[in-house]
Amino acid sequence: MHFGSDNVMGASRPVLEAILAANDGAEAAYGSDSWSARAEAMLGEVFERPVKMFLVATGTGANALALAAMTPPWGAIFCHEESHVIDDECGAPEMFTDGAKLIGIPGLAGKIDPAGLSAALARFPRGVVKAVQPAGLSISQVTEAGTLYSLDEIKALTGVARDAGIRVHLDGARFANALAGLGCTAAEMTWKAGVDVVSFGATKNGCIACEAVLFFDEALADTFQFRRKRGGHTVSKGRLLGAQLVAYLENGHWMDNARHANAMAATLAQGLAAVPGVTLPWPTQANEVFAFLPKAVDEAIRGAGFRYAPWGSLSLPKDLEQGDRAFARFVTSWATKPSDINALLAKATSTS
Ligand SMILES: *Cc1c(COP(=O)(O)O)cnc(C)c1O
Repeated sequence: MHFGSDNVMGASRPVLEAILAANDGAEAAYGSDSWSARAEAMLGEVFERPVKMFLVATGTGANALALAAMTPPWGAIFCHEESHVIDDECGAPEMFTDGAKLIGIPGLAGKIDPAGLSAALARFPRGVVKAVQPAGLSISQVTEAGTLYSLDEIKALTGVARDAGIRVHLDGARFANALAGLGCTAAEMTWKAGVDVVSFGATKNGCIACEAVLFFDEALADTFQFRRKRGGHTVSKGRLLGAQLVAYLENGHWMDNARHANAMAATLAQGLAAVPGVTLPWPTQANEVFAFLPKAVDEAIRGAGFRYAPWGSLSLPKDLEQGDRAFARFVTSWATKPSDINALLAKATSTS
């Protein structure tokens, strides 16, 4: 009954079993093991081209190190004003980039648009020694509002980035949920749409402290092994991460998990929207539901033991009438039970 986030759940059975299988015997350390090699090859198949894969323990580490590979210390990284990299990483991107500047861009429902990106780029002219120099764009897919950029929206943004000569990073802490939501291929959502570097999250969708930084351009990955080690993210028993990713990708386990989480969110969103007085500010496109709840509904479901996060967002339409209602975020996961969704909806419905 915990909808606080998808990381409130543990790891999935196949992932745990893969750790046990990889646990026996001895293997080379620091990622030079057969499991990690297999995971990298499997990702090459998923993305339909060779990728350079670097495993790290956290999404914050993945993002901060990926951005560091894209920018000099005097660079500017453009992102949504409520992105994880700017709001939720305690300055790790600034630290790992040796002080590059993150430029937050406003946008509805967690998304930035090409006009917003162009306007932000214009504030930092090339060659002007007083200004940080444009170096990268970071977009989140799934966004911090639980929404998705369409493929056309990604391409429009990466087009502006390409014209400005900057690289593109995709924060895919919920990469599988995004793929399941869009129903496209991993290649279409990334390199075919102009993305250079991906933080490929696995932890939230069934793994334990296992995230991959993926490069499609080997040159950009050139110094990454040193950055990762210097940043304290080169895991010595790396095979136990590699094994997780193998199990995660094998037999479509990762996509099964994501489709389940998204289906649970869709049911929850549909049910909540039918409760009198409840409104959703934007569509539920992956595994996060945002809703305005009448105070009585909020108190009743909270009182019944359901846990979820009170929320606030700059991404809401400015003219939105919140009234005397609570704003809440519910996150579903690979392990969410349909009975929990039904129980929550029953309580909300009987209260209203
Ligand atoms: C969860 C999350 C991350 C990763 O966070 P860690 O807690 O450092 O693993 C990164 N980006 C987004 C959008 C997230 O939701």
